[in-house]
Amino acid sequence: MNILLSNDDGWRADGLRALEAALAGLGRLTVVAPDRNRSAASNSLTIETPIRVVEQDDRRYAINGTPTDCVHLALSGLFEDEHHLVVSGINDGANLGDDVLYSGTVAAAMEGRFLGLPSVAISLVHDGEPKRHFETAGRVACELVERLIATPLQSVSLLNVNVPNLPYESIQGTRVTRLGVRHRAQPVVHGRDPRGRPVYWVGAPGAGQDAGPGTDFHAVDHGYVSVTPLQFDLTRHTALPRLEAWLSPDDV
Ligand code: MN
Repeated sequence: MNILLSNDDGWRADGLRALEAALAGLGRLTVVAPDRNRSAASNSLTIETPIRVVEQDDRRYAINGTPTDCVHLALSGLFEDEHHLVVSGINDGANLGDDVLYSGTVAAAMEGRFLGLPSVAISLVHDGEPKRHFETAGRVACELVERLIATPLQSVSLLNVNVPNLPYESIQGTRVTRLGVRHRAQPVVHGRDPRGRPVYWVGAPGAGQDAGPGTDFHAVDHGYVSVTPLQFDLTRHTALPRLEAWLSPDDV
């Protein structure tokens, strides 16, 4: 079992180290991760500049690209041997609801799925508390990956996992969830650089809005691990007939 690990927080991130430690017994691990924090890179690919790969340690590679670049390279020619599974994380922060559209952690797993492999994205949900229970998320990742190896999921193979920032013993269980929705993000933050020029920061994400029972937000808020199966098809299938009618009103 060859397992590819990546993330969006960069190859030095504590969450990735914890993931490596947790999955060490499950197969041969290869880490291909960005050389710096590329959080919120979404599914971007680097196509206008060359990508360089630096082997930092045995089977641990840092690249000057995005999370999607990492998985794309790793599964499309960087290595001779094939991989069987992709695990991305452990992200230092939530990937709940609309976060998945921006997330580099989820994007790395999605690239794995695009290229035909079962993939898991795993994130630790915290409120900025200094103590990060990455070891909890590592145990959760290990249990899920063991289960995936023993019983492959045929049609559902991109799992978005969010783990509360708690000691493992305090986790209430696991819930299968749908994505919730956040309120809109906090306003842009204005500032000045040392030379007086205006600078801006993208504001913090909004709180959960559609966050009731059944959602990923609700599960994590109540101490459960949230597991959401994701698909790529963004088509709003229920709107197809209405759109047909709107575009050709005379035919209806
Ligand atoms: Mn991140």
